[in-house]
Amino acid sequence: MIEALFDEIIKTCSPVAKSGEVASYIPALQDVDPFQFGISVADNHGKIYSAGDSDVRFSIQSISKVFIFTCALIDSGVSRVLERVSIEPTSDSFNSIISLELKNSGKPLNPMINAGAIACLALIAGESSQEKVRRVLAIARDVSGNRMVDIDENVYLSEKITDSRNRALAYYMKSTGIIAGDVETLLDAYFRICSIRMDCLDLAKTALLYAGNGMSHYSGGQVFCADIARLVKATMPMCGMYDESGRVAASVGLPTKSGVGGGILSIVPEHRAGVHGMNGAMGIGIYGPALNAKGSSIAGLNALEMFSQRLKLSIF
Ligand code: GLU
Repeated sequence: MIEALFDEIIKTCSPVAKSGEVASYIPALQDVDPFQFGISVADNHGKIYSAGDSDVRFSIQSISKVFIFTCALIDSGVSRVLERVSIEPTSDSFNSIISLELKNSGKPLNPMINAGAIACLALIAGESSQEKVRRVLAIARDVSGNRMVDIDENVYLSEKITDSRNRALAYYMKSTGIIAGDVETLLDAYFRICSIRMDCLDLAKTALLYAGNGMSHYSGGQVFCADIARLVKATMPMCGMYDESGRVAASVGLPTKSGVGGGILSIVPEHRAGVHGMNGAMGIGIYGPALNAKGSSIAGLNALEMFSQRLKLSIF
């Protein structure tokens, strides 16, 4: 059933990439074939379904905000994190500066926008960039179950050299006291973590772990506690898809996060068991580097809408 649906999705959605564009504000992200398209689903009975370019590794960019938020919650605890970053939606773009000054007294509105992720990085264990990166990379490897997850040095350097916007956000937050410590250290860690490379299956397995509230369906181990998984998932329908999160909540209805590298991670929670006639909780990973105007994979989002609607996966 899934295989036939995947065939249909690939046929219908891949051509949609023509109306999107790869991210170019990070120069290294331009060097990819915009028509690549892959999808993987992992379910809680250990079944894996993949199609298209599902084994192509790409830069996860903003999807790493899921790991950064998770790590900050583990290392600093919920109340300390929520002192520094709210969990409210934003109608501005992911790298907007305006709401930092005008709304919410200098505190980032949520951990899924750039300012929120940089603020969370300050709350992750370790003084140096290397220590913080090691910590987040370890979580990324644990949640995906893939020890080979690594950093694309080329993308890291490309963003580090060209990025002024995130510098502006970080220095602004330093001035308001939201972040303490060395700003360049946090930025270096942020650029490296955005450059983590994964493929669709890594994303699908990651999503499955959050669906199972932190419990790995592969090792049986609890990677983080259920309260953290719930908090991370709750932010996604509000803030995971930039300033089209509301529309995606209506059309897909699943906790979802995208990145400007073209990846999409989407979580089908346990309590959907049975509704789709499949095996309960699922994790979905999609890749298609051509983006829509808001910064999400244009073909990928079409595919996710089709998948969720056909299998009636919306949690709403
Ligand atoms: N590294 C990117 C930036 O900060 C991440 C943006 C994204 O994927 O939304 O601009």
